[in-house]
Amino acid sequence: MTEKDWLIEQISERLSFYQSITGLGFVRKVETPAQMRAVVAAPGSDEPVKHETLEVIRADLGDCTRCVLHEKRTHLVFGVGNPNADLMFIGEGPGFEEDRQGIPFVGPAGQLLTKIINAIDLNRDDVYIANVVKCRPPGNRDPEPEEVEECRPFLDRQIDTIRPKVICALGRVAAQNLLKTEEGITRIRGRIYSYRGAKLVPTFHPAYLLRNAEKKRECWEDMKLIRRLLNDAE
Ligand code: SF4
Repeated sequence: MTEKDWLIEQISERLSFYQSITGLGFVRKVETPAQMRAVVAAPGSDEPVKHETLEVIRADLGDCTRCVLHEKRTHLVFGVGNPNADLMFIGEGPGFEEDRQGIPFVGPAGQLLTKIINAIDLNRDDVYIANVVKCRPPGNRDPEPEEVEECRPFLDRQIDTIRPKVICALGRVAAQNLLKTEEGITRIRGRIYSYRGAKLVPTFHPAYLLRNAEKKRECWEDMKLIRRLLNDAE
């Protein structure tokens, strides 16, 4: 055992001990120096650290009242799909049907998203689908910055836990919030960005595509780009 491994083991034991006596979940149990290295980010690294489960994040949200969107929701829409997905779709927020069922992208736009996913040889079960805010903005308005601010940490934790290779931001609101830009979706789509260790490709929201069928061709180009990124990452 090297001196570094010995030191890591000592820290690991100490943290496990503190956790056992305090009952605090501030660090998961780490058994070996190799596992310790896996959960400790290198100095200066912005690599996300996988250190919790989606169940823990959902439990932390609880019956969330952190922003006003809780007042009119029927269901909090956490997210759905493969917890180890290589591809994650992120929309802006639940709509009427999503709020009613508690599942993201289940209305007509959701059916189109399913076709888009199938078109790149994947199923909905292969990917993970979530939104920037988890409760429906009344009248399907854009979420306000303070609402996104409250909800965003939970989305980021989901991303850090799933660790997708590629994120597809669906529509202007999702893309602008994730990339912190005010550029329109037409300008920013079709290019590759970086977000929390994943490659991020913005494209049009399926609801927009239902109203603007001529944009489907550009969306298809974006999906082919995503397919290539996934193939390259294998
Ligand atoms: Fe909580 Fe997010 Fe719902 Fe606001 S939108 S109440 S932060 S879960």
